[in-house]
Amino acid sequence: MTEVATRAAGMPRQSGPADADWSAAVTAVRELAPTGRVLLICHVNPDGDALGSMLGFALGLRRLGVTRLQATFPGGLDVPVPFAELPGLDLLVPEDQAYEDPDLVIVFDVAAESRLGGLVGRLPRAKASVVLDHHASNTRFGGINLVDARAAATSMVCEELLDRLDVPLDVEIAECLYVALATDTGSFKFDMTTPQVHEMAARLIATGIRPGEISRRIFDTRPFGAMKLFGEVLGRAALDPTAAGGHGMVWTYATLDDLDRHQQAPYVLDTLIDPVRTVAEADVSVLVKQLGVDEWAVSLRSKGAVDVSGVAVAMGGGGHRLAAGFTGHGTPGEVVLAVREQLDRFLI
Ligand code: 5GP
Ligand code: MN
Repeated sequence: MTEVATRAAGMPRQSGPADADWSAAVTAVRELAPTGRVLLICHVNPDGDALGSMLGFALGLRRLGVTRLQATFPGGLDVPVPFAELPGLDLLVPEDQAYEDPDLVIVFDVAAESRLGGLVGRLPRAKASVVLDHHASNTRFGGINLVDARAAATSMVCEELLDRLDVPLDVEIAECLYVALATDTGSFKFDMTTPQVHEMAARLIATGIRPGEISRRIFDTRPFGAMKLFGEVLGRAALDPTAAGGHGMVWTYATLDDLDRHQQAPYVLDTLIDPVRTVAEADVSVLVKQLGVDEWAVSLRSKGAVDVSGVAVAMGGGGHRLAAGFTGHGTPGEVVLAVREQLDRFLI
């Protein structure tokens, strides 16, 4: 094994949660998981970090011999195609089949209870609940909270807890955690891409996973119809150079009718913010995606001039400083106007 493939004894671990919280989490897993019902939950409309962290941890528990084990998330069990080959998906159950009275609940990548939908009631019924997350805005709604806002992904918290449980990485756990880490760092490009991120990636790659193949699957593959849909939605983008105190804003929207016409599933829009935010003339990018008649999922990104998590919280959502979101109502133009009015309040 290479030097980075193991965690050297005595090396400072990535700081964040207090030692007492790590110990409490380890004790809860060791005492409750071997014989009890264990329910793992990630956030609604799961992304790579949510699913990858949850499934990677699930596989780790399986290695520990845990047998009564389920993984779930609120809403329909639609796993986005790029994540449909993740190891551990056989543990996934629809929310209405999830243990009603679990002994242990572990929650992944969830900043606030609102992101748990109808599953929120499982936490108070469990003997212990552990929240693994990296959102600065995390409301600490678990019994035990392992929240590290300096971690680029929840999967970093997840890897540390597996390590403290003496679960070695294997190729399947590593694939899940790698998908999670690569997703939340934008392929190791974002500001949070610390030495610790690359050290963790090295440990994961050392198990034998194929980063090129994984990246192609999760970032660089989409149906032809999705490419045509992207073309249309990008074609209607508008630039507002005076927004955000002159730092500029670019925005566009995609409707359910757009998805229908191109026969595409909503997940294809999850990466559409990436070409939008390449626009040089705008610090802030906004993508408004239709959820229902009058309801829109809004993605916000900044290059550093605006704290978009502040904007999102003001609009009832949440997220990180440079990547956040919320659910909006009205027309796309009205939703974006409301965002524009908030931007000046959150200039960094
Ligand atoms: P995305 O734009 O990729 O959907 O989300 C970017 C970030 O914002 C993620 O960290 C996600 O957790 C957060 N986020 C997106 N939508 C919402 C929302 O409706 N509520 C909250 N609390 N956070 C959101
Ligand atoms: Mn995350």
